[in-house]
Amino acid sequence: MEVAVVGAGPAGLFCAVALARRGQRVTVVDRDGGPAADGSWDRRGVMQFHHPHGFRPQIGAAFQAEMPEVLDALTAAGAELVVFQGGNGLPAPPPGLRCRRAVFERVLRAFAEREPGVDLVRGHVDDVLRAGGRAAGLRVDGRELPAELVINASGRSARLAADLRGPADGGDCGLAYVSRQYSLLPGAELGPMNAPVGIIQTLSGYLVAVFLQDNRTFSALFIRPADDRRFSALRFDDAFQAAALAVPALAGWVTPDRSHPITPVLPGGRLHNTYRGQLDGNGGVGLPGLLHVGDTVCTTNPSAGRGIAVAMRQAVNLLLQLDEHPGDPEAAALAFDVWCTANVRPWYEDHVYWDADLLRRWDGGDVDVTRRLPSDLIMEATEADPSLWRVVGPYMAMEALPGSLDEVEPRVREIYASGWRAPAHPGPTRDELASVLADFGAR
Ligand SMILES: Cc1cc2nc3c(=O)[nH]c(=O)nc-3n(C[C@H](O)[C@H](O)[C@H](O)COP(=O)(O)OP(=O)(O)OC[C@H]3O[C@@H](n4cnc5c(N)ncnc54)[C@H](O)[C@@H]3O)c2cc1C
Repeated sequence: MEVAVVGAGPAGLFCAVALARRGQRVTVVDRDGGPAADGSWDRRGVMQFHHPHGFRPQIGAAFQAEMPEVLDALTAAGAELVVFQGGNGLPAPPPGLRCRRAVFERVLRAFAEREPGVDLVRGHVDDVLRAGGRAAGLRVDGRELPAELVINASGRSARLAADLRGPADGGDCGLAYVSRQYSLLPGAELGPMNAPVGIIQTLSGYLVAVFLQDNRTFSALFIRPADDRRFSALRFDDAFQAAALAVPALAGWVTPDRSHPITPVLPGGRLHNTYRGQLDGNGGVGLPGLLHVGDTVCTTNPSAGRGIAVAMRQAVNLLLQLDEHPGDPEAAALAFDVWCTANVRPWYEDHVYWDADLLRRWDGGDVDVTRRLPSDLIMEATEADPSLWRVVGPYMAMEALPGSLDEVEPRVREIYASGWRAPAHPGPTRDELASVLADFGAR
């Protein structure tokens, strides 16, 4: 069967190689032509490309099942396999990865290019061809590319075939990313860590993180309310460095005797929480033979680093549905949609609720014990009652859906109702950090 995949991002390339290994002939079309001859890769249209990425064990598990050689190639490129703790408290057997997104995609793309049965083509997909009520291929820069099956893996800004699906739920999550990549100096030790990826801390009104990556590189990150204009100066290199040095969790990494910056500051665009199923407004398959996967289905605020894990899980299930419904892509789409509603949509809903409440608290609101507590507060409460880990651990590891937290939510509400609050991390409040930035002004 001829398969056309729109998008050579993680979801599209993974599906392409896996389908080729099932005997299909796959053409992947992307408007991006891959790394330039000098090795640089801007990846316009994928704004998160140079922002930090944590690669959860679900990603390693998908590769191990379908194309384990990718993990070897990633390690050879300098990615570190890191053993995360699973929800049961034991090491999770598939490894997570510490790796720059650009290194991850470079390796995956090169791997797909070498895969027999996969053809990578540069071009802009204008539309999905339709014939006899089924998908019949793609229109790429005005030319027709015939195919019997079309997989839309065109990412979070996808407008492709929008008329064939119901509208997306959700939108802007109200938070913004600003990050910068650094390299550890020869012999320098790592900075402070509190997570497999590095360090993640919520301070008063904002969040900071360090993501360790391949080849002794790391990214330092601020996540802040998108509409707080006082933070726009963070996009300047000197302002970012001053702000990072003002926050102990970041200062321990970016101090000049431990590391040096290897990129300018990378300001992020708006971050989204969205969900969009396979079906059209009438609840039917809009076009049999067209399936949507990855960020075209779900995006979540990246601060929990779930995006590619969710995308890979989708891809694995999509392959399963295609295996189980040979020659019947409409049945595969229906079954995939049911699975996504049950297993993907909850991660979107989790973040919508969490982010709205976090922004409210960052604006001075207290924990509201009169209604269901968001997941971040439930996770924090493990500091007050470690027995909560039995339920919280599998959720954090994405081995259990957000609904699993319902079991402990009443207990956690009791904890907060008694007046307990998580101890504050050392560092400036958002107002104090804004005054550090005020010195750098608008330019
Ligand atoms: C700031 C930020 C940080 C993130 N951090 C993490 C993290 O720490 N961990 C994590 O797991 N996830 C993270 N994510 C999410 C992760 O980046 C996405 O889930 C991932 O990129 C989804 O992969 P994809 O293949 O579905 O789409 P994409 O990676 O977006 O790929 C889509 C591809 O389609 C191509 N394309 C689109 N339209 C067309 C067209 N019409 N014609 C031709 N080509 C087209 C694009 O060029 C692109 O190559 C983050 C996201 C953001 C925004």
